[in-house]
Amino acid sequence: LDPVLAIVGRPNVGKSTLVNRILGRREAVVEDTPGVTRDRVMYPAEWNGRNFTLVDTGGWEFDAKGIHQRVAEQAELAVELADAVLFVVDATVGVTAMDESMMKMLRRTKKPIILVGNKADDQRTDSDVATLWGLGLGEPWAVSAQHGRGVADLLDRIMEVL
Ligand code: GDP
Ligand code: MG
Repeated sequence: LDPVLAIVGRPNVGKSTLVNRILGRREAVVEDTPGVTRDRVMYPAEWNGRNFTLVDTGGWEFDAKGIHQRVAEQAELAVELADAVLFVVDATVGVTAMDESMMKMLRRTKKPIILVGNKADDQRTDSDVATLWGLGLGEPWAVSAQHGRGVADLLDRIMEVL
């Protein structure tokens, strides 16, 4: 069985865009408005001749009450079936309350977590990514899923922990 990498993060941070970038094709549904994607979708992926399974997450209904709970549950399920986790944050927005509630859950797992500061489209965003060190999840990886910036380095890092 191929190792499984789950991509978690609040809606709209660019998880599905990152999945498509890693796959090299547009297969995961990218939405300008969050909340429409299917719950958990698995994709066969490959990097440097190594196969792994990518799990995209998202697609919960917006329900003002209990949204933090629902987000945490989604992430928790994905983490349970994964060997490693990519936790994606929008570097241009910073850490929100929803990011914080997902992190509480992530801190309980012993599985490797790689922190991604997405939407780092150019080097002006790198200082925003650097502030993500403060999350205590180790080195934040500056990535632009949309343009591909930083994705090869991220994949090399993923292969070290998967
Ligand atoms: P998800 O809800 O986390 O799966 O996020 P999506 O992949 O659906 O993307 C949400 C929005 O962010 C879309 O409008 C994307 O085009 C945009 N987006 C995703 N990645 C990037 C990026 O690296 N840079 C910029 N500027 N926008 C991005
Ligand atoms: Mg998505």
